[in-house]
Amino acid sequence: MSQSFSIQENFNLSDYNTMGIAAKARYFVSVKSVEELKNLLADTRFYNTPKFIISGGSNVLFVSDYDGLVIHVDIKGISIEHEDEIQVKLNAGAGENWHQLVLYCVEKGWGGIENLSLIPGSVGAAPIQNIGAYGVELEEVFDSLEAVELETGEVKSFSKDECRFGYRDSVFKNELKGRFVIVNVRLKLQKSPTLNTSYRALSEKLEEEGIGDPSIKDISQAVIEIRQSKLPDPTEIGNTGSFFKNPVITKNQFQDLKSAYPEIPSYPDGEKVKVPAAWLIDQCGWKGKRFGDAGVHKMQALVIVNYGKATGKEIWNLAQKIQVSVKDRFGVLLTPEVNIVS
Ligand SMILES: Cc1cc2nc3c(=O)[nH]c(=O)nc-3n(C[C@H](O)[C@H](O)[C@H](O)COP(=O)(O)OP(=O)(O)OC[C@H]3O[C@@H](n4cnc5c(N)ncnc54)[C@H](O)[C@@H]3O)c2cc1C
Repeated sequence: MSQSFSIQENFNLSDYNTMGIAAKARYFVSVKSVEELKNLLADTRFYNTPKFIISGGSNVLFVSDYDGLVIHVDIKGISIEHEDEIQVKLNAGAGENWHQLVLYCVEKGWGGIENLSLIPGSVGAAPIQNIGAYGVELEEVFDSLEAVELETGEVKSFSKDECRFGYRDSVFKNELKGRFVIVNVRLKLQKSPTLNTSYRALSEKLEEEGIGDPSIKDISQAVIEIRQSKLPDPTEIGNTGSFFKNPVITKNQFQDLKSAYPEIPSYPDGEKVKVPAAWLIDQCGWKGKRFGDAGVHKMQALVIVNYGKATGKEIWNLAQKIQVSVKDRFGVLLTPEVNIVS
């Protein structure tokens, strides 16, 4: 079997995770095609080696070195599978940059993902947590995907139902966690989309700019500007965006909290209530706190940052302390949105 990939040993991952953690991978291989990936998986040297998939590294925290094989997915390519007057079905390789794909679609006038502008990372990771922002989630435009099973090297297709999307969640974070490498994602975009300006910060921004009848491009641009003003840029300060998910609690639990803290913000979530994790963390006094090089961002309590040389353990210790203090004060357990690798 032809081997077209190169294996690196004791590889420093700091350029491959936006938190900038200098963890080492025992082995590291970047694959540029499905064939290379299959060859790698068929390589008997790695049969019993633990494997971890990485793309943009914007949603992972390496708590320690990884004693296994880190597979970096760098499979590129965008193609149109079907196009008519109403919609476009688009195929994108897992290694394509998500934001570049959004800009490409915005330029073409294909609507559906403009609210997801400037989310860091790759196309292949987008279904893993059903990325979402400014009132839109990936599942709304998702058609299907292809993934290679790590154990068998076989390619399998997943429909939208099979992905079992939820809030920052999918089957790939649960039953199928760590079992498949997504290699291709298929999206359905609209040529005359119903634009979503329901998210308050977005509608306010458009109003501020005097844009009454926004185009796809106006929405993308507004989202980019809001994000740039609110979120720390990982190229300037190490971070992984929101560290925790917003907790979803029962109405009864929320009523108890509301009696004790009348000012608590909330959003309806079906039969339940979603509470902003940032508010809970802020109330516990964490915003702007710094311990060595690990800290909580001064403007965004939900963002844990690496000011320079923090280790994954230091970041994780801080995250756990935040979890404990929020649980003690509000009785609410924060779960990480970030994938913790130890
Ligand atoms: C500043 C900032 C802002 C952010 N804002 C948002 C936001 O608004 N909304 C949001 O939803 N997310 C947000 N995120 C999180 C992150 O951008 C997304 O989760 C993104 O999809 C991660 O892509 P990635 O390529 O970096 O994935 P990685 O961090 O490399 O991987 C994330 C997880 O997916 C797995 N994975 C990656 N690629 C594949 C693949 N091809 N096949 C199988 N498994 C794979 C990894 O094993 C890991 O478990 C933000 C992050 C940052 C740093």
